[in-house]
Amino acid sequence: MSEDVRELTEEEKADKERRKIKSAGAMRELMTKYYIEAKGAEGTKRHIAWITSGAPVEPLIAFDVIPVYPENHGAMCGAAHMNVELCEVAEGRGFSRDLCSYARGDIGSAITRGGPIGGLPRPTFLVACNNICNTVFKWYEELARFFDVPLFIFDTPFVRGELPEHLAAYSVRQMHEYVSFLEKMTRKEYDDARFVDVAAKSLFASALWKEVLACNEHRPAPMTCFDAFILMAPIVTLRGTQEVVDFYQGVLEEMKRRIEEGIGILPSERYRLLWDNIPVWYEMRNLGRLFMELETCLVADTYTSAWTFEGVDAEKPLESMARIYTEVYLNINLERMADKIESLATRFGVDGMIMHSNRSCKPYSLGQYDLAKEFTRRTGKPALIIEADHTDSRWYDRAQVETRIRDFVENLLGSGL
Ligand code: SF4
Repeated sequence: MSEDVRELTEEEKADKERRKIKSAGAMRELMTKYYIEAKGAEGTKRHIAWITSGAPVEPLIAFDVIPVYPENHGAMCGAAHMNVELCEVAEGRGFSRDLCSYARGDIGSAITRGGPIGGLPRPTFLVACNNICNTVFKWYEELARFFDVPLFIFDTPFVRGELPEHLAAYSVRQMHEYVSFLEKMTRKEYDDARFVDVAAKSLFASALWKEVLACNEHRPAPMTCFDAFILMAPIVTLRGTQEVVDFYQGVLEEMKRRIEEGIGILPSERYRLLWDNIPVWYEMRNLGRLFMELETCLVADTYTSAWTFEGVDAEKPLESMARIYTEVYLNINLERMADKIESLATRFGVDGMIMHSNRSCKPYSLGQYDLAKEFTRRTGKPALIIEADHTDSRWYDRAQVETRIRDFVENLLGSGL
């Protein structure tokens, strides 16, 4: 029986409190402040840009534009069990249920101003980058029509193998066009010193985030990847700011302290698993309880590491950022994805992998059966594929998923690991 279902003893309550991640409170404060500021800016002279999660946000920060992320808002709506009703609004306007539920929920929220924070502030312009998928083109075109605002599309061609020079050069040209677009929108001139400062903060925060995630190489792991899914919000939305640097310094200190004091996130850690794909936002609590009961820690994932940047030339931030944003996890071929998964599996010492086949996110889910086979071939460890959708719970069968996870972990037990 899970500890949240039966009454806990005083000793168990104290232990639970000791294991709780304190930085989650600081994160909530930071994100609340951010959303209050963003919503308060609506109708003022400040520019607000809605932007896709994988797009370069640093130029926006450098131009004093407030970035707003419909995908982060979608995750909030999903976790609050409010995204299905928003999706239904979009579906009522003719959008197919096969379209990503972030897109449907966002369109529904734009129409109704629904969701846990009463919708997002109206944008003055939009920025979409297809390094995560091509759905964002049509989604943002729809938003541009709905709000009647300009849309900048940052085009990143798919990368097979190593990034060829002509694609790298193309991405750099996109970066320059992006800057020109921002100059036109904000009527400000590009300030190189300001951009270098923002880029440096972004890279520093990203390096701190990488170190935070690496803390989970330790046994017992100081957090699960479900905690990382929550703690990642500032690196997605506000990288390039001092607040985010300060926040991740605090998180890193906490993780190091937990390691020193031997505080694991679970009371008992028997197995370590890798998670693939976006979280099932509306089911995090239940899945968290299940994994705790199974003494299984999800120690790493392919999602949160998307915001750990490597290979940046501080002398040429625009150029190196163009390259980095083109080579994100969802814009590379299966062979390179398999290399990343294998590297995570080795570094974090996992006993297997759980892959969320996400009905919404085709680019993340296509190829998972091949990746699962390749993972097992390279590591000798098993992989399980579960069916769900990140925010549309109508595609989720809890009983079936939980039974499959239990069987999978029991098989690990049977294998004598
Ligand atoms: S399809 Fe996937 S990558 Fe594209 S917006 Fe939806 S969740 Fe993000």
